[in-house]
Amino acid sequence: MTVQVQIPQRAAAPVNPSAHPADSSRILMVLLDLARQAADGHVGDPQNDYERLISPVILRRLLSALHYRDQATVFHARRVALTSVGIARELGWDDHELRVLEIAAMLHDIGKIGVPDSILHKPAALSADEAELVAQNLNVGLTILQACRVHNSAVAIVGQASRGPADSSAIDPKALADVQQGARILAVADMYDSLRHDQVYRNQLSHEQAINALVESERQLDRNVIAALRRWLTEGGLSALQDDKEAVEAIRASAPIDAATIAQASSLCHAFSYLYVLENLYDGYYLVDSDLKLVVCSSGLPGLFPGSRLVPGETWSRRLIGGVDQVGKKLPDAAYPLHQVMESNQPACATLRVQTETENRRQLECHAIPLMDSSGELHGIAEVVRDVGHSRKNSTLYKELRQAANQDALTGIANRGQLDSVISESFAEFVERGCRDPFSIIFVDIDHFKRINDTYEHAVGDRVLVNLVRLLEDELYSDETIGRYGGEEFIAVCPDTGLEQAVKRADRVRRAIQNARLADEITSPVTASLGVAQVVEGDTIESLVKRADQALYDAKRSGRNRTCYREPDDPNAKSKDADAAAGAQLRDDFIHTARFIACHAADMLVYKLKGFVQDHDARLLEVRSDLVAMQLGRTGLFGKWGARPEKKPVELIVAIGEESDGQGGRSRVALEVTVTPLGRVTDLEIFHHRAANVVEQLRSYLLAD
Ligand code: GH3
Ligand code: MG
Ligand code: MG
Repeated sequence: MTVQVQIPQRAAAPVNPSAHPADSSRILMVLLDLARQAADGHVGDPQNDYERLISPVILRRLLSALHYRDQATVFHARRVALTSVGIARELGWDDHELRVLEIAAMLHDIGKIGVPDSILHKPAALSADEAELVAQNLNVGLTILQACRVHNSAVAIVGQASRGPADSSAIDPKALADVQQGARILAVADMYDSLRHDQVYRNQLSHEQAINALVESERQLDRNVIAALRRWLTEGGLSALQDDKEAVEAIRASAPIDAATIAQASSLCHAFSYLYVLENLYDGYYLVDSDLKLVVCSSGLPGLFPGSRLVPGETWSRRLIGGVDQVGKKLPDAAYPLHQVMESNQPACATLRVQTETENRRQLECHAIPLMDSSGELHGIAEVVRDVGHSRKNSTLYKELRQAANQDALTGIANRGQLDSVISESFAEFVERGCRDPFSIIFVDIDHFKRINDTYEHAVGDRVLVNLVRLLEDELYSDETIGRYGGEEFIAVCPDTGLEQAVKRADRVRRAIQNARLADEITSPVTASLGVAQVVEGDTIESLVKRADQALYDAKRSGRNRTCYREPDDPNAKSKDADAAAGAQLRDDFIHTARFIACHAADMLVYKLKGFVQDHDARLLEVRSDLVAMQLGRTGLFGKWGARPEKKPVELIVAIGEESDGQGGRSRVALEVTVTPLGRVTDLEIFHHRAANVVEQLRSYLLAD
């Protein structure tokens, strides 16, 4: 086979790699890590037969992810393993072969981890298209098992059990007969177990009914194996299945319990979902690590590069691909997208022409993506391949998947990638219209969300996220896009909305969040901080996103549960309450901040601050353990500042820092005080004079005793 490379083209650089670290990169790095761990632990304890088949660490990680995704599947896998081994023993298998089969059965549904929720938990029979999608999970499963360096025979058993005999060249000829029979056993055990248990679309069958269904199955199952199953079941198998304490123990052991394992399981699930998308969008894909070692190889690769050994463990080289130019001369390394990524750390693509024995020109579109961490270090490269002329991927399916690829799996709203394109499109439109009718973006970040996860279960955290999205959808207008930017961060894109309007809307959302009950278990209010920015002439996408991000940071810094905004070219944070923004003072100059240390314990301080409110005829706006907000003074009828101090209303926010021990063991707390004007004041000097006075009053009050 030869490959011809057309003029390689650099893919357009991403909008801003630092502000938008590609999600795919982070997700796929999880797989790099898994594969590396599998390769390291490849040779387990040589005395332990299981450990020669799969590294125990990897087995635990896989089962823990499956458990996290769908607990029922783990129980199913365990029963199928028990049944398969039971049947094989009836058929006289030896211990080693039994273990290979057991591992295969335990992992036969591992690809289910990546199946979209909407399909995995659909409470009805699947449509033909959906069933086709699910069938892809087998490919993903096999890809993962290979990447995890699971014993070849076990992988082959899983593949053949659901797909029938395939290319067996990688299997030791002596083991081939076992693989073939193992696959037939696994198919029977798998089907028997699903018949015996309720499915969303049909009720469970009795033992006799299930056996009859197997015999009559269109799948032409092996009669000999069915007979062995029957024997095993009547000779103790039935009760072994019913009373399988070992299984319950094993499954309990695979359950992710602590936060770290949960996070690990969850990110593995995301990674598998991502492979599922790749599997469906492209004809092939592979990942190499930073030593150019292949670590993940999709099952479509042999069809695209026949005869080439693109399998985990091999080192990538151009000879493995074998590209040539127009006159049949071998291409240099630099012509391959993968090499361009290594040189530039930027995505690259090229269309290759493949010369196979049967066709003389097959065009392959290859797209290589750098896998980088947040510090910009390259850990590996992913390459996805589409067969331009004869893509196996049909176009409606492709479109649906594109749709799915744009959605966040948990909440169903736009994901980061989709958000990026919505912002880019809005931005292009804004520029096209001559920078008129600006749009705004609102960053929403849940406050102390980690605590929610830590205090309650992760599932409660998930529910908060889902309910928050429903609330955002209710609060925002239909032409506004809401997307999930990352974990507990969301962005709303508001077309034709100026800053002032966007700030008001954001703050309405903030109050709605504070007043909502986002999960039954959580009694104290869940709050969020919001950052707002409006696009202006001269902006880039990065500068706009950065402003909103900084505004969000301002909101966090000034005590959380706040809405802040930023305008361009203002070096200082604007930490200004949105209610006051109604007064239309959108200039960063009208903000006065001060810091000092108070020699009180934090709880004492809240008490003292309440005293300050009383003594100064102020109005308390908000009291929390980490923040006290109050209003001092009131405006006249027209909202304009008057001559006397009490006619110069300001908002005073005291953010209370961490408590520490000062001299003589007395507690001390760092305070950050922010003063912003309420009502209308145009003179900057007057404002700062008043603000400085207020800060001084507060300082002397707190230092008074
Ligand atoms: P801050 O107020 O500063 O924003 O604090 P925080 O705890 O909300 O922010 P931080 O970024 O430290 O923590 C975010 C947490 O969100 C960490 C992560 O475990 C959690 N998280 C991210 N994605 C999900 C998810 O899909 N489900 C759940 N339950 N938790 C998630
Ligand atoms: Mg947060
Ligand atoms: Mg966060």
